[in-house]
Amino acid sequence: MRSAGSPPPPSPRNKLRIGIPRVLNLWNTHQFWMGFLTSLGVDPRNVVFSSDTSEEQGRQFGKGRGTVDCCYPVKCISGHYGELVFGQKQKLDVLLSPMIYNLPSFLSGHVAKTLTCPRVMAAPENIKAGFIKEQDAFAEAGIKYVSPFVSLDEPRLVPKQLFAGMREAIPGLTYEETATAADAGFRALREFSDRLRKKSREVLEWCAREDRACLMVIARPYHMDPGIGHEIEVDLQAYGYPILWMQYFPIDADLMDWAFGEDIRAGHIKSAFDIRDVWPSSYSSNTNEILWGAKVAARIPWIACVIRMSSYECGMDQPTYTPVQQIVERSGTLFFSFQDLDSTKPSGSVKIRVETITHYLEKYAAAIISRKKAAAPPGCPLRPAA
Ligand code: SF4
Repeated sequence: MRSAGSPPPPSPRNKLRIGIPRVLNLWNTHQFWMGFLTSLGVDPRNVVFSSDTSEEQGRQFGKGRGTVDCCYPVKCISGHYGELVFGQKQKLDVLLSPMIYNLPSFLSGHVAKTLTCPRVMAAPENIKAGFIKEQDAFAEAGIKYVSPFVSLDEPRLVPKQLFAGMREAIPGLTYEETATAADAGFRALREFSDRLRKKSREVLEWCAREDRACLMVIARPYHMDPGIGHEIEVDLQAYGYPILWMQYFPIDADLMDWAFGEDIRAGHIKSAFDIRDVWPSSYSSNTNEILWGAKVAARIPWIACVIRMSSYECGMDQPTYTPVQQIVERSGTLFFSFQDLDSTKPSGSVKIRVETITHYLEKYAAAIISRKKAAAPPGCPLRPAA
C-alpha cells in the first residue's frame, strides 16, 4: 500500500500514454520513434501524435506561449505542445520532443555532415520555455516532459543518448533494452523508407512506360504537413499528374548508375550521392537532400516539372534558391517556386499558379520529356527492355 503523500506508482509501460508533436524532423523520423517505443513495450495505440498544423490549433492551444520570433515551422510548435497538454480526452503521461542533432540521410557518408537546422535542434527548448514561464504547465497536467538529445546519424551513440534522456519517463528502463529498441527503430525507419521508394519507382516506371509526365516536390520534410506546405502538390495531383517527393526518390543501384554513372566516370563526383559539384558546404542534411533532389530531377526525363517550397524566414533555404533553380532549368525542366509559405494558405495565388503550371505542362511536357530523353544515356532501367 502507498503511504499518504507518496507519489503514485509509475504506469506500467503498456499503459503509458506518450505524446509526440508532429513537427519538423518528426516528419521523416516518426517510424524510428514508433519502432523504438513499441520495442520497449509501449502500446502503439498509446503513442499520440498531435494533429497536422493549423491556424486553429495555434489559436486554441498555442496563444500567448510564443517565445521568439522565428520561421513558421518552429513557431507553430506551441500549438502542437498545447494540443498534447491541454487538448487530450485521455491524459498523457509523457510528452516526448527529441532534440535531433543529425539525421540518418541516404546521403550520409557522401556529404560532409547531416546536421539538422540549428532552429530545429533547439526548438524543443525554445517552445518549452513558453510552457514554463509562469507555471510549469507540464507538471500541472501531470505530464513528464522529456527532450532527449539524439544523433540519429550516429547509431552507436543513440542508445547512450536515449537511455540518458528517457530513463525518467520509461519505468525500469535499462541500457541493454534501449540499445535493442534503437535497433528496432532504425529497422522500422529503413523499412518504411524502402517501401515508399519502391512506390516512387513504380510511379516512375509507369511514367516511362506511358511516356507521361510527373512532378517532383523539392522541400523540407515538414512541408508534407498540410498546415506548412498547404497541400499545393495535392492541388496539382488533382489534375492527374503523379507527384514524387524528393525524400522518397528510388535510389536503386541500377537507376543511380544510369543517372550519375557518366559523371562518376568523368571524375566530377565520387558517387551518385556526392553533391560536391553543386554544393561544396554539405553540412545540413535537409539542404543536402534538396540539392541532390534538383540533380536527380534534372536527369530523369519524365520529371517534367519541379515544385519548390520553402517557408517564410527560412535562412537555410535562402542560399539554395539560385543553385536549385539553375540545376533544374538548365536541364529544360519546368521550375515553379512557392517561397515564404506562412500560416495562411494564399489560396487565390496558389489557384492561379496551379492553373499556370498545369497549362505549361499540357503545352510543353511532351517536348520536355523527349528532349530530356534525347540527352539521357541509353539503357534507362525505368523502361521495359526492348
Ligand atoms: S530549415 Fe528553415 S524552415 Fe526549417 S527550421 Fe530551419 S529556418 Fe525554419
